[in-house]
Amino acid sequence: AKQRGKANWVRYQGGMELPQAGHARLGGELRRALDNGEFRLVYQPIVALATGHVVGVEALVRWQHPARGLVSPAEFIPAAEGTGLIVALGRFVLREACRQAAAWLAEFGPDALQKIAPNVSVRQLHDPDFVADVRQVLAETGLPSDRVVLELTESAVLRGPQVLDTLHRLHDMGIRLALDDFGTGESSLSLLQAFPASIVKLDKSFVDGIEVGEEGTAEATARQAVARAVVQLAGALGLDTVAEGIENQGQADRLRALGYTLGQGYHLARPMPAEDFRRLLAAQQRR
Ligand code: C2E
Ligand code: CA
Ligand code: CA
Ligand code: CA
Repeated sequence: AKQRGKANWVRYQGGMELPQAGHARLGGELRRALDNGEFRLVYQPIVALATGHVVGVEALVRWQHPARGLVSPAEFIPAAEGTGLIVALGRFVLREACRQAAAWLAEFGPDALQKIAPNVSVRQLHDPDFVADVRQVLAETGLPSDRVVLELTESAVLRGPQVLDTLHRLHDMGIRLALDDFGTGESSLSLLQAFPASIVKLDKSFVDGIEVGEEGTAEATARQAVARAVVQLAGALGLDTVAEGIENQGQADRLRALGYTLGQGYHLARPMPAEDFRRLLAAQQRR
């Protein structure tokens, strides 16, 4: 993660500084941004493909930079991981997501939202206080643990017995774990055996070009084969699936035909500010 962070920083600043100095400076800037309250969350619905009903929501962080405007997490998460600030930033994300979900549940009732899903980085899992922090956030916000899904990338998970122990402790608290970007890692299959996952999220790269009408190319055939294998494997292991990055109805139709019941993507709903998601829940309740 460290090296990825440095490479990212070089790109971010157009290579105008030495990577080491630049990395440290962005680290300082991120710290200041966190203290200044410049980070906020947007929420992307997770939707039942058959009905369009919102069943859950992923929380995604944004940096509202005073000069540069909205900065993408792809630009700063690697640096935050490299400097260790991700631990404090991740704590903010978790607290804010849980606080917000608890407020929506209080307003709209327990059927309004099944899951809130913040992303968690490998550095957070290595933090010895992580489980205690999660426990504290749940106690503070009053959010039941079974409403929380932590989204983890496969690389984050592949780092030894200590992380696995942390994951089992979270699982035992009733928190669900989702394997993000599924299919892009190197040992997805063996991982699923050791890892207390409840959900796999099929990576967008297998959804691109999968739509009805696009079949025939070798790429489309291969992606469809992976998408089918993932949903079958998940089913056999008793895991739920979410297909990510759905950008058109043809993809949604194909995924449903393959056995996917839940999806996420611009075609279904874009990431949105909390207030817009609240309105969506309100509209859904009136239906
Ligand atoms: P991710 O966890 O795989 O999140 C999905 C990304 O795909 C999001 O980008 C989302 O806006 C985007 N997306 C959703 N639907 C579509 C679609 O139909 N088409 C396309 N082209 N994109 C779609 P975003 O918000 O820019 O986040 C990028 C990555 O940054 C995330 O990928 C995640 O790995 C990381 N990230 C975001 N927020 C956090 C956070 O709070 N903590 C950590 N550790 N990582 C985060
Ligand atoms: Ca995610
Ligand atoms: Ca993903
Ligand atoms: Ca991703």
